[in-house]
Amino acid sequence: MKVKVLKKKGQVLHFLLEDTDPAFANSLRRIMITEIPTLAVEWLDIHENGSALFDEVVSHRIGMIPLKFNPKRIVATEDCKCSNKGCPLCQVVLVLDK
Ligand SMILES: [Zn+2]
Repeated sequence: MKVKVLKKKGQVLHFLLEDTDPAFANSLRRIMITEIPTLAVEWLDIHENGSALFDEVVSHRIGMIPLKFNPKRIVATEDCKCSNKGCPLCQVVLVLDK
């Protein structure tokens, strides 16, 4: 396997992977994805659903949206001092009034 770095700018790296198979490249991709901190909706309260979709469908779709955040301002729940209880350092509360 050969890895050739094409371009590096900030946190973006473009590289060329050669002499390997798609399964290994996919494994590498999946490992890199697990190392990226992500933020997504975990709990959702729906008070009134006026849409044509069931609450479960709306919840699933909202949960699939990755949220942009500054990783320096959010602590992972498992690393937080609150011991997984939830606090403003490790949780975000979003309100959508539409
Ligand atoms: Zn916390």
